[in-house]
Amino acid sequence: MRPDDPETRLAAVNEAIARAAHLAGRKAESVTLIAVSKTRSAEEIAPLLAAGHRAFGENRVQEAQAKWPDLRVAWPEARLHLVGQLQSNKAEEAVALFDAIHSVDRSSLVTALARAMERHDQRPTCFLQVNIGDEPQKGGCAIDALPGLLAEARDAGLPVAGLMAVPPADVEAAPYFALLAKLARQHGLDGLSMGMSGDYETAVTLGATHVRVGTALFGARG
Ligand SMILES: *Cc1c(COP(=O)(O)O)cnc(C)c1O
Repeated sequence: MRPDDPETRLAAVNEAIARAAHLAGRKAESVTLIAVSKTRSAEEIAPLLAAGHRAFGENRVQEAQAKWPDLRVAWPEARLHLVGQLQSNKAEEAVALFDAIHSVDRSSLVTALARAMERHDQRPTCFLQVNIGDEPQKGGCAIDALPGLLAEARDAGLPVAGLMAVPPADVEAAPYFALLAKLARQHGLDGLSMGMSGDYETAVTLGATHVRVGTALFGARG
């Protein structure tokens, strides 16, 4: 195996997660590694599936619809996570395709997802996305809006597993991870979708149950 083989990268990331989990007194199995395969071709994704990896993340409904139906015929055990912003008019398609949606961040989307789940009789696991750094251009609900949005999501019957966030770039992520973990605890939520290629080990030590890793697995995006 060459150092840049997808299998080698996968093993290295899994080892790093296990180390970080151990450090925090957690089990490695309590962390799901989501291989973020946005912009990657089916040919780049297949080696990870062949190596036994099962959880993948995409950030666009249309791109996922183009790539995944064929891959899923070959690997029906693959699980798909939507990690990008979702427009309400794509809720139907998202519910039909994804096993988990990490970007539920507003009332209108809660309503659209609830209706789509009813119609498709499929209930992807939901994470409420929080704009943890209060950045104007970022997705996610404001921290103050979280209790209201969570109540709406629960009332609408969405299976809410936890919280998701993308901290501000270029600053230490740990304080934001700690804040998201605290918010999840306050609301009785177990799931924490946080940590990307540059900071997933830190996220695991602070309680991440789902890390979303792209470039550390696939190499730099072109
Ligand atoms: C692209 C993306 C990731 C993965 O980013 P890397 O830095 O390539 O690991 C994680 N989360 C979200 C929401 C993304 O859009």
